[in-house]
Amino acid sequence: MPDAADLERALRAAGLRVTRPRLAVLDAVHAHPHVDTEALIGAARARLGAVSHQAVYDVLRVLTDTGLVRRIQPQGSVARYEARVGDNHHHLVCRSCGAISDVDCATGQAPCLTPSVDGGFLVDEAEVVYWGRCRSCATARTAPAPPDPDGSTAQRGTP
Ligand SMILES: [Zn+2]
Ligand SMILES: [Zn+2]
Repeated sequence: MPDAADLERALRAAGLRVTRPRLAVLDAVHAHPHVDTEALIGAARARLGAVSHQAVYDVLRVLTDTGLVRRIQPQGSVARYEARVGDNHHHLVCRSCGAISDVDCATGQAPCLTPSVDGGFLVDEAEVVYWGRCRSCATARTAPAPPDPDGSTAQRGTP
């Protein structure tokens, strides 16, 4: 985890002025990978007191525009933010609970998939999302039903 001095250095290196909202949001994104906007607003308020939604949105836009923060938005999810940038890593997303987990790039560099036909496009990235069920959702789904107290096994529905 970067400390406050590291975060200030990162902001300056990106050509940004160091402000308390920027520090608070950047710190929260480092602390909570794949955090959503609501949680970031909560984290910023916990640290700074009154901060408007708009202020947090503005900070997020600046941080993503300068590449300090990466915005991802798996289908069906709200926008999420992470500080692990520049490595073309992908995400495992749980269809059941929406949990997101990082996974290294399949080949080590973008684009890690080559289109079968490129149509003359200069392809620089393939957006890869691995969909499935996280460990706990998969376990919950495949766990055997508890034994029936009265011995009836006729009902086999999901609750
Ligand atoms: Zn899950
Ligand atoms: Zn990630």
